[in-house]
Amino acid sequence: MSYIGRLAPSPTGAQHLGNARTFLVAWLACRQARGRLLLRIEDLDTPRTKLGATEQAIADLRWIGLDWDDSNHNRSFTVQSNREDRYSQILEQLKERNLVYPCTCTRSEVEQAASAPHESILDGAIYPGTCSHRTSFASADLDRNGQKYAWRFRMPSGVHKWTDGLFGEQSLDAEELLGDFIVGRSYGVTAYQLAVVIDDHDFGVDHVVRGNDLIYSTYRQNAIYQALAWNPPAWLHIPLVLGVDGKRLAKRHGDTRLSMYREQGVSPERIIGYLAGSLSLTRNVSPITAVDLLKAIGQDQSWLERLTRNNVVFDPSKLELH
Ligand SMILES: [Zn+2]
Repeated sequence: MSYIGRLAPSPTGAQHLGNARTFLVAWLACRQARGRLLLRIEDLDTPRTKLGATEQAIADLRWIGLDWDDSNHNRSFTVQSNREDRYSQILEQLKERNLVYPCTCTRSEVEQAASAPHESILDGAIYPGTCSHRTSFASADLDRNGQKYAWRFRMPSGVHKWTDGLFGEQSLDAEELLGDFIVGRSYGVTAYQLAVVIDDHDFGVDHVVRGNDLIYSTYRQNAIYQALAWNPPAWLHIPLVLGVDGKRLAKRHGDTRLSMYREQGVSPERIIGYLAGSLSLTRNVSPITAVDLLKAIGQDQSWLERLTRNNVVFDPSKLELH
C-alpha cells in the first residue's frame, strides 16, 4: 500500500515541543510504513511569517533527528507561497462552477451576525451566510466598485462523515458547526483550507498526521476534495499539547522552543525521549534518538492505536529536560 506523508511546519514562529510531538508521530508512521515523507513550508499567512523562520523550522526538525525524502537529499521542499499560480488555477475552476462566492463581510460583522450558540469550539464564529446569495460572477461588480472581498466555499449542507485513524468515526452537521469558509483572501492570497488540499493532491500525499486542532478543517477539506473529485488522504489527528490552564500550549506558558533547548545544551535525545514518553511509546523518558525509537517500535502495527486520545498537559516549568 502506498504511503506518502508530509511534515508541514508553518514558519510563523519557532517550532516548539507541541509541534515536534506531532512531527515525530508523522515521521515514525511514515518510516515504519517505508513510505515517502515530504516537507512543505506553509507560509501563506504572510503578515506573520518571520524572516529566516523557514530555515529555523528546517534546522529544528533536523536537530531532533527527523528527515524527509526528495530527489535532492533533504535539500528540496515545497514552499506554499511559490505555488500561488496553481492555487489560482483551481480557485478559478471553483468560481466557474459557482462553488465559491465573494464575501464582503468583515470579521467583526461575521462575529456579530453569528448568534451565540453557533460559536464553534475551535474555529470562532460560524459564518451566517450573509453573502451566499451572490453568485461567483458578482465579483465583477465588486471589482468595478473597488470593493474588497474574500472567496467563500459553499459548504454542502447535511451531515458530513469521515473516519480518523485514531479517533474513529467523525460526523457533524454542516450548518450547525461548520458554515461556509474562506478559500481566498481579499488581498489575493489563497487560504490555508484550499492550499493544503491542492498541495496534498498534487504531491500524492495519501496519509496526513496532524494535530487535532485541525479536526474541523478536515470536514472542510474533505468537502473541497469532493468538489474537485479528488481522493482525500487517510487522516490521523494527534491530541493537542496543552498548557496547565487547559489552553493550547503557547508562548505564555513558558518557553518550549526547540531552539531554546538546543541553545541551553539539552540533547535532541532528551527531547525525543520525553516526547516518546508523553506519547506512551516508551515506558520511561530515557534519552533516545528518533532512529532508535523507530527500531524499538519495529514492525509493531498497534502503536498508533495505543496513542492516548486525551490531550496532554505540559508544564514547561516542570519539564526536566536539562
Ligand atoms: Zn459575507
